[in-house]
Amino acid sequence: MEAVKKNRVAKKEALILFQNDIYALAKRADETKKKVLGSRADYACFIIDRNINTTNICSAKCNFCAFYREENDPDSFILTIDEILEKVGQLQEIGGTRVMIQGGLNDKCNLKFYTRLFSTIKERYPAICIHSLSPAEINYLSKLERRSVFEIVLELKKAGLMSLPGAAEILVDEHRKKVSPHKLKTAEWVEVMENIHKAGMRSTATMTFGMGESFADRIEHLFIIRNLQDKTGVFRAFIPWTFSKPQTRLNVEETTGEDYIKTVAISRIVLDNIDHIHAGWVTEGFELSEMALRMGASDMGGILMEELVVKATGTTHTSSKETMVKVIKNAGLKPAIRDSGYNIIEE
Ligand code: SF4
Repeated sequence: MEAVKKNRVAKKEALILFQNDIYALAKRADETKKKVLGSRADYACFIIDRNINTTNICSAKCNFCAFYREENDPDSFILTIDEILEKVGQLQEIGGTRVMIQGGLNDKCNLKFYTRLFSTIKERYPAICIHSLSPAEINYLSKLERRSVFEIVLELKKAGLMSLPGAAEILVDEHRKKVSPHKLKTAEWVEVMENIHKAGMRSTATMTFGMGESFADRIEHLFIIRNLQDKTGVFRAFIPWTFSKPQTRLNVEETTGEDYIKTVAISRIVLDNIDHIHAGWVTEGFELSEMALRMGASDMGGILMEELVVKATGTTHTSSKETMVKVIKNAGLKPAIRDSGYNIIEE
């Protein structure tokens, strides 16, 4: 990876990349992917996993979120530990290897709830990787329990947490004030990731764009991630995806398919120190995912046996092993199933 870093793109140059045409970006992104991944660049992988949302009652009430509810709303819910265990059991039955458990910021889902939940999953389903809780939830638990982020992370790790999905939106506070004023700030997001690294765990990082941010904001976000990765190496993958507007309160113009695939390519070019960039079929659909695989992406994410957060906006793409294989082959790559650590387990 050192060879890639020597010729790394600077912030100013990265911003100008948005003016390049798709073909020039695809070529450069593909070159970066090959330098970063070597022969692994011939593959695009996916994982068999399941999202489980513990609760949709959330105090953050982000403007871009169609998922959250007030406690008194008729369709609000909090799952019990038994209900969650049943869902994890169903995942194991279909050969799944990873569960992503996340939920709203809700004081009923406190540290005790999550440590009991994770330790019971570990006991009953030891082969399942618990890749769960967003940085916003870790930050919330730290404030709720009046304990440091590091203590919270260690307790969760002891209970069975193995890695963290890094939902980040855009890490620019001016922008965050408009879309998620009650959610954690940029410095708090970075603090969670530094502590995940300190505790010996790994994470991913996302970027949700098309929420009225500028190109400069996106570049700022990418450089925060790149600098943090230089310091820690905490990220296994980066997942750029577009905001789904229906059913939300955010009044912005939706982004285009061209903007999506260009942003995927620029992410690949800038983040020369992160192994994988994901193609996001959940929000973008399969045609754009296939194009993303030609623009430097090397992973299709998960099959997602259950997904509620994006579905709440009215976006309802569903996937299967067969669909993933077809999309990857169409993009001229070799399909494979991977584990949570991005190791190929079945070609
Ligand atoms: S995005 Fe997450 S933190 Fe924000 S309102 Fe929705 S569930 Fe809550």
